Amino acid sequence: MIKRRLGRTNLMVSIIGFGAIKLPQVDLETSTKVLNRALDLGMNFIDTARSYGDSEEKIGFALSGRRDEFYLSTKTHALTYDDAVKDIERSLKSLRTDYIDIYMCHNPNHPSKFEKVMSPNGPLKALKEAKSKGIIGHIGFSCHRYHETMEKGIRSGEFDVIMIAYNLLNDELLDERILSLAKEMDVGVIAMKPLAGGFLAAPPAALANKSKIPINAETALRFILSNDAIATAIPGMMRVEEVEENARIGENFLSMSEEEKRMLMEVAGSLGKEFCRGCGYCQPCPQGILIPIILRHLTYYKYYDMREWAKGRYRMVEVKADSCLKCGQCVEKCPYNLNIPEMLAEAHHLLSQ
Ligand code: SF4
Ligand code: SF4
Repeated sequence: MIKRRLGRTNLMVSIIGFGAIKLPQVDLETSTKVLNRALDLGMNFIDTARSYGDSEEKIGFALSGRRDEFYLSTKTHALTYDDAVKDIERSLKSLRTDYIDIYMCHNPNHPSKFEKVMSPNGPLKALKEAKSKGIIGHIGFSCHRYHETMEKGIRSGEFDVIMIAYNLLNDELLDERILSLAKEMDVGVIAMKPLAGGFLAAPPAALANKSKIPINAETALRFILSNDAIATAIPGMMRVEEVEENARIGENFLSMSEEEKRMLMEVAGSLGKEFCRGCGYCQPCPQGILIPIILRHLTYYKYYDMREWAKGRYRMVEVKADSCLKCGQCVEKCPYNLNIPEMLAEAHHLLSQ
């Protein structure tokens, strides 16, 4: 597996890292197999977060005996010193380790949140203390959409690593400004959501057929990694086959030509932005609506020509989309600014026919 230097951390990370956000969707036995396979195939970077359900526990269970074979990154949503101290303790316990290579502040995107992170009694203070005690190797932050926050974080000098959503369909970062700045400041860049929640690994035929070059996991990952500001891309994985396919891509990586990139972006741009990436940030909904699940069925109905299948799945959904009260809580949390209540209304209309 090809490796790259993760900015000034000097960690040499595999260009394909393991995104552990999907582990809560599989049982302990499967997650153990998947994680071990990832290490066997040369992935040496695993990213999780306090808020990814039991992902930390599953990593701890599966890999505590192989801790010296990989770099570990986790994140906290804490916005105070005390909460961050507690989260670091919980992470160490769940991950069954005494050292975390990278600990990140989890998406302090809004300026008010970022201010809290940086405040004298904020989580950054706790992370710095943990670093000086040798519990944490490096401090980072993840950020969606807010370029101002990304820039402030990079320029602050406090963070060695930034994690951003970067993929073919996420055109917000394609102007490269943030990536160039990170490179200039030697801040390591981790690309999350490289396959847009799995969408780019198996895009709808309507999209794939338009393209002169195939749109699949390989081209989507090659597109990202052709930018040398990116050290590693971390697709979310929960099946051994996904690990094997992604590892192959990391082994055989070839940079993409400008012409290939242009062709891919042209097709991706024609899809529009009105689909759910399945990231789950909008949850929980006070009405108990499982938003990513329902919107996934909507995607299958609209783009994959799997109408009856999607309707059948929707029948099994306990809390239907018409329970939405349009309170807007989910919209505030969606990194892609999707109009979730409107999409749920469409889903209910189409899927309950
Ligand atoms: S707008 Fe609807 S789906 Fe979103 S949180 Fe409120 S009730 Fe739930
Ligand atoms: S609606 Fe938005 S936040 Fe929720 S899963 Fe989809 S993309 Fe993520």
